[in-house]
Amino acid sequence: MTGKIYPVSEAWSSSAYIDENKYRALYEQSVSDPEGFWGEQAARIDWIKPFTKVKNTSYDPHNVSIKWYEDGSLNVAANCIDRHLETRGDQIAIIWEGDEPNLDLKVTYRELHDRVSRFANVLKKHGVKKGDRVTIYLPMIPEAAYAMLACARIGAIHSVVFGGFSPDSLASRIVDCDSSVVITADEGVRGGRKVPLKANADKALEKCPSVERVLVVKRTNGTVGWTPGRDYWLAEEMESVSADCPPEEINAEDPLFILYTSGSTGQPKGVLHTSGGYLVYASLTHQYIFDYKDGDIYWCTADVGWVTGHSYILYGPLANGATTVMFEGVPNYPTASRFWDVIDKHQVNTFYTAPTAIRALMGAGDELVKKTSRKSLKLLGSVGEPINPEAWEWYYHVVGEERCPIVDTWWQTETGGILISALPGAIALKPGSATLPFFGIKPALVTPDGQPIEGAGEGNLVITDSWPGQMRSVYKDHTRFVQTYFSAYPGTYFTGDGCRRDEDGYYWITGRVDDVINVAGHRMGTAEVESALVAHPKVAEAACVGYPHSLKGQGIYVYVTLMEGIEPTEALRTELRNWVRQEIGPIATPDLIQFAPGLPKTRSGKIMRRILRKIAEDDFSNLGDTSTLAEPGVVSDLIENRMNKA
Ligand code: ATP
Ligand code: MG
Repeated sequence: MTGKIYPVSEAWSSSAYIDENKYRALYEQSVSDPEGFWGEQAARIDWIKPFTKVKNTSYDPHNVSIKWYEDGSLNVAANCIDRHLETRGDQIAIIWEGDEPNLDLKVTYRELHDRVSRFANVLKKHGVKKGDRVTIYLPMIPEAAYAMLACARIGAIHSVVFGGFSPDSLASRIVDCDSSVVITADEGVRGGRKVPLKANADKALEKCPSVERVLVVKRTNGTVGWTPGRDYWLAEEMESVSADCPPEEINAEDPLFILYTSGSTGQPKGVLHTSGGYLVYASLTHQYIFDYKDGDIYWCTADVGWVTGHSYILYGPLANGATTVMFEGVPNYPTASRFWDVIDKHQVNTFYTAPTAIRALMGAGDELVKKTSRKSLKLLGSVGEPINPEAWEWYYHVVGEERCPIVDTWWQTETGGILISALPGAIALKPGSATLPFFGIKPALVTPDGQPIEGAGEGNLVITDSWPGQMRSVYKDHTRFVQTYFSAYPGTYFTGDGCRRDEDGYYWITGRVDDVINVAGHRMGTAEVESALVAHPKVAEAACVGYPHSLKGQGIYVYVTLMEGIEPTEALRTELRNWVRQEIGPIATPDLIQFAPGLPKTRSGKIMRRILRKIAEDDFSNLGDTSTLAEPGVVSDLIENRMNKA
């Protein structure tokens, strides 16, 4: 699997911002002289008061402190809007594509300025001040972008909660950050179905005494409950205020947002990001990794409820004066051609999505892709989970027609922006590898007991020095921040991910460290077993976990979702077992294979292995926090049909 390599094409290396030589030279400078490198890069944004100090960071577990550009000031919204007005006021900033294919909207930078300024004045009118927390519970509509930027404009801290979350999940996130204002909509629309956002919010607010105001966007005109004095229609409020709202001066280290992690591994954490360093990092990575050029149409399919939506739908692209697409719908509505239709409709050049979507669309068959043109596409991206080489190859050959490099971007809510990724003009691609570190990023591998691993090898992934986009704390819980990320391997940031580094220095994320299995003394990443299974023509999706095994320590338990129309049989079980044995080796042979019509996933589409592990361990009474599950129903089916019945 390590073998395959796709070199950088001549066209890309000569046209991209960064070619291989430039990457090597700049990377070297960025890690040997971070002060110099990040001092220079910060000039890409407008500062109100220039900083005199660049970096002031400590990973010492007794005193973890991360500050960048600490005496500078700026306004993030002004950087994303106002400074573009003179040169690109009439350029489209946001292309909104509605759930129904005939519904869209284009917003210029000038219009964005008007909406955001008014929205900011509405927030002020309702008592929101600098430092106050505002919870945003909206569907993927332009108002979500306006709301986030309006907060940034006045220095309020936004906490975006994904519109698919339940009232309870919303309530716990409102309470955790003590918001006084919630912004929601009457209903959301996804895949032709309505989502009762206002009703959910009303239910959540029964548990949230701190909330004084609810601003409601009218999306569907559906009937909603109303609490007079607390609830206000946003549109009416927008008309009642002036369109003039000078941006507030914000210190570089003042918070920009809180965002809860997706909860794949446990209780979500309130990740705190600040203003200056975050914006420098988001905009720099967006420009170089996606090789964003003026006039490009850029589409990231994430939801603004995830960090990818924050950094790569909104802040990075808008800071760079880009045209960014915001999509309200889902990949398979009205048909599984939707992504490709939208690419043709808006002539999208860069397309950035998640492996879960790629696998699902691959399962739907090539015809649905091939009937579309996709000639506008130049570059593809992937984020969220390791991408199985099989899915990578399909994305590359079928979707991108071998013309578009794929940037497999590894990062986390905590990192603010991409840390490990290819640069399309500089780094040869290996399917399934996130490739090499971005500027300023120093990854390292350690053994579980903290011994450094040099050269090729596999271990736990840590980052040995800070970068400007790094999270600063867990909101109101610095102790948890230090314990979670800085105590396992003192002096480093521990990512929680396992990783392999090959002979060329390429990084391969093998899954979460908690998911690494140890079979007869042999450490194995779950990603490798899953990729082997997904490569089988009858398998659509697979998840691998360990379970206690009397002889081997841990045995391999896999859950397999078959392609449309394939029957689960005993013969197929044997076939799959032999297949993995042949692809990876006898050590990786699955002990138990459970056919599963669906896998438990977070609402961002990631497989929740901790639940699968519990089921495999036959300990399904104790599944932990399941509030972030997309479809809680799949769990009972898995328990019902488990292979390891005690
Ligand atoms: P929680 O931290 O609450 O358990 P989470 O880790 O899923 O949730 P995110 O911050 O959204 O929350 O996801 C980051 C994780 O996603 C990474 O640590 C990694 O495990 C995985 N990931 C993201 N991008 C990639 C990628 N390109 N390749 C491999 N893994 C990836
Ligand atoms: Mg995580």
